[in-house]
Amino acid sequence: MVVPRRPSPFQRSGLTPQQQDYQISRKRMIAEQLIPAGVTDPRVLTAMAKIPRHLFVPEGMMSQAYSDHPLHIGEGQTISQPAIVGLMTQALELKGHEKVLDVGTGSGYQLAVLCELAKEVFSIERISKLSNRARRILYDIAYVNFKLRIGDGSMGWPEEAPFDAILVAAGSPEIPSVYLSQLKEGGRLVIPVGGSESQDLVLAIRRGNTFESKVILPCRFVKLIGKQGWRET
Ligand code: SAH
Repeated sequence: MVVPRRPSPFQRSGLTPQQQDYQISRKRMIAEQLIPAGVTDPRVLTAMAKIPRHLFVPEGMMSQAYSDHPLHIGEGQTISQPAIVGLMTQALELKGHEKVLDVGTGSGYQLAVLCELAKEVFSIERISKLSNRARRILYDIAYVNFKLRIGDGSMGWPEEAPFDAILVAAGSPEIPSVYLSQLKEGGRLVIPVGGSESQDLVLAIRRGNTFESKVILPCRFVKLIGKQGWRET
């Protein structure tokens, strides 16, 4: 008679040893990077503890996916470091019912965080190869509450406006004026504003025909290249 073996703890949890390692890395990322940086919104922390960030980085870099720095994702672009993603997302104060515009799809990681926290997300990327890769990863994980567009996100997405929130993951010399008209009253925009080498991460809230804005922290992002951003060189 064959006596069935007791399942190992790994089998009991339904996760492979490698998946368990990534889960531990995410817990450490929360405790050692996000919370010390000031990310306290439990919804943001729960989403980032769940999303498999390693799937969004190139295969050779998976082991660094949860480290405290940005990573190259190809095409000269980067995925922001975890604490920056957390702070930008937290500043939007999402509750779950919102329609959000995400500019600079890149790897799709920030978009996944927004898909967890808002009702629907519209994301624009100018490089089609990145957009297509992000789409595959998001579908594989089973997100369905997003739409992608390839084009110039500095012009927003007029057909889907107005948005409750806009998150821009590329730096611009000034806030593109179309974002004001594409935000609802009281809507929140997070965007890096400044020179090509360094910027301020700005939170701007629509108050009538103007923005009430404040600087969250200094930062360094790739350029927002487009009609209302930087010119392509
Ligand atoms: N949110 C991304 C970060 C991407 S980095 C992530 O989680 O991985 C910024 C991205 O903005 C780059 O992929 C870059 O190609 C894109 N980008 C730059 N200018 C843009 C524009 N005008 N419209 C749309 N995307 C733009």
